[in-house]
Amino acid sequence: MKRVCSKCKVEKELNTDNFGKRRRDKFGFDTTCKKCRKEYDKKRYKENGERLKSEAKARYWKNRDKRQKYQKNYYEQNKEECIERQKKWDKDNPIQRRIINNLSRCKEFGKCTLTEQ
Ligand SMILES: [Zn+2]
Repeated sequence: MKRVCSKCKVEKELNTDNFGKRRRDKFGFDTTCKKCRKEYDKKRYKENGERLKSEAKARYWKNRDKRQKYQKNYYEQNKEECIERQKKWDKDNPIQRRIINNLSRCKEFGKCTLTEQ
């Protein structure tokens, strides 16, 4: 019993060495040989992997914008409270304040980020 692989068109003995199992097939084997299946899976994984990665990246930036908008909104609506809290924190943490000032001089409200500097 032999089968021609639908992908590489090579005739191969129809057994588990050459073909993966497929219940829906009348002989119970895949129509593409194991070698092609492996390459296909690898390619698909590579493509999907890249897609998933870029999706995660997009989600990160989208949430980042949302987060910054929320923070800005909160600040606008609670300016005095924020300023008071900031003042108090500055007084309690003078060294950290100086470090943050040096690190993120123009980071306020997302005008620029550390990576863009
Ligand atoms: Zn093949």
